[in-house]
Amino acid sequence: MSANSDPKACAEFQAQLPELLGSGLDLANHPHLSGCPLCQALLSDLETIAEAARQLLAPVAEPPDQLWEQIESALREQESGTAE
Ligand SMILES: [Zn+2]
Repeated sequence: MSANSDPKACAEFQAQLPELLGSGLDLANHPHLSGCPLCQALLSDLETIAEAARQLLAPVAEPPDQLWEQIESALREQESGTAE
């Protein structure tokens, strides 16, 4: 039974894709993917999209410097503020 050009196998594989991607498995070793150029193309499209989405969703990671300053000054206030 060949997985090549079997729309059902592709549909099954694609249905599993989110899980497979989420599991962090190496999809290059997936038996269906290695025999199916269609799904290889799909996966590389997905990876391109995922990469773009990552950049869109995490545009500017604010450096937590300010947060640390706030924590530090809060701690300092607590230390000195509790004296009488
Ligand atoms: Zn396929």
